[in-house]
Amino acid sequence: MKFESASFHVHQPLESSSEPGFMTPEQIKGFKPLAWVESKDMPQAVARARTRMEVAGVWAPNQILGRRYSIGCVALEITQRCNLDCTLCYLSEHSESVKDIPMEEIFRRIDQIKLQFGPSNDIQITGGDPTLRKRSELMEIVRYIRKIRMRPTLMTNGIAATRDMCQELVKNGLNDIAFHVDLTQERKGYKTEMELNRFRKDYIERVRGLPIAVIFNTTVFKDNFHEIPDLIRFFKANTDVVGMASFQLQADTGRGVLKKRDQVISLDSVAEKIQEGAGTKISFDTARIGHPRCHKYGLTLEANGKLFDFFDDPTLFNMLIEKTRTLELDRTNKVRLVKNIFKWLMQNPDFIAPALKFAFRKIMEMKWDLLKARRMGKLSFFMQNFMDASSLELDRIHACSFMVMTPQGPISMCMHNAKRDDYILQPIQLKSEQMWNPLTGKTEGCCGNEKKSESL
Ligand code: SF4
Repeated sequence: MKFESASFHVHQPLESSSEPGFMTPEQIKGFKPLAWVESKDMPQAVARARTRMEVAGVWAPNQILGRRYSIGCVALEITQRCNLDCTLCYLSEHSESVKDIPMEEIFRRIDQIKLQFGPSNDIQITGGDPTLRKRSELMEIVRYIRKIRMRPTLMTNGIAATRDMCQELVKNGLNDIAFHVDLTQERKGYKTEMELNRFRKDYIERVRGLPIAVIFNTTVFKDNFHEIPDLIRFFKANTDVVGMASFQLQADTGRGVLKKRDQVISLDSVAEKIQEGAGTKISFDTARIGHPRCHKYGLTLEANGKLFDFFDDPTLFNMLIEKTRTLELDRTNKVRLVKNIFKWLMQNPDFIAPALKFAFRKIMEMKWDLLKARRMGKLSFFMQNFMDASSLELDRIHACSFMVMTPQGPISMCMHNAKRDDYILQPIQLKSEQMWNPLTGKTEGCCGNEKKSESL
């Protein structure tokens, strides 16, 4: 089976080694982004994701990449600047001296993401902190992503994301906002994650009532690992606004000062801590997203302050992920979500009976809490097991579900972080054939005359 990616020329599936063999510095240096291939439609993009999973040796009945999705999400870095300097920052030492890339290049990358992975995919607008980009340009970027039928997500530490800005972002089509709040940010005077709830509460009020999906990101390291259960209890109490709690496991990459993670931190140990706070078992192995050593994902329903595992029927899950590719699961609008599911069931009557049986079982499980609560929320959990820059595993890189858009195409976030300067310090050729210089922010003409680009 020949794989299109120029940098990928193995003809038989890679053994997913128990003892992961790490890539050599030469292999990392020579590794190229995913080869540029235009998808004529979503099914073709999804089929290519399936090939990628098969070649990486992680294709399985519960693999959602290559069935429902062509990619988990793609990060679009619109600035390298940030107003924090986290102890586990993945940016490079050069990041602060790099100017914001021109809007023309940003639009080109957005178009490429859609052409490569198909419509209705998540584009994470990130950085650095994207709220530091000129506000009018940030709005234009969100608007453009929505206009070409992709889903814009904003990744921010929230400092500059005022209610007013959040309202304007939603008006321009923002789908999700992910607030990053944790102790690696060293916010002055805050010594525990529970003390940082002051910021989480503030950010929740900034987006309360807006038609947007709200996520909180937490980097897990030795100083906050023990607080995960309390964090879950906080999110559990705020499911009227918060829909997902996402945990990034410490990795030795970028300019962060805290290097290798403590042995206690792993996908399994963080999953245990989450279940401790959730007060229930969560089926983290039902859904597979890319490589099993990269992620764990779980979904719960919330009623009366209690969480109930949603993915506890793997057989039904496996049946559904293939068939529901066309079913739009709108995270921002519950009514539209239920309508879409109902419409899909009418078009797929074979699934009405198993779906009703599942719904009835869940309602019976939750009945007393539903009666008391009079409302039902949901809370999903996502874990991202980032790799150290010096310990990259080739099969995981090839099965990557979370990529970054570079001038040459999408590449695994872990690989990008390991050689970020190769991309951010690269001059960019513009349509005018002029070269944009990332350190000066100027465009140099093919005949050497210089002009300063608009944005910083
Ligand atoms: S970014 Fe890294 S941890 Fe995440 S899916 Fe890609 S290879 Fe795996």
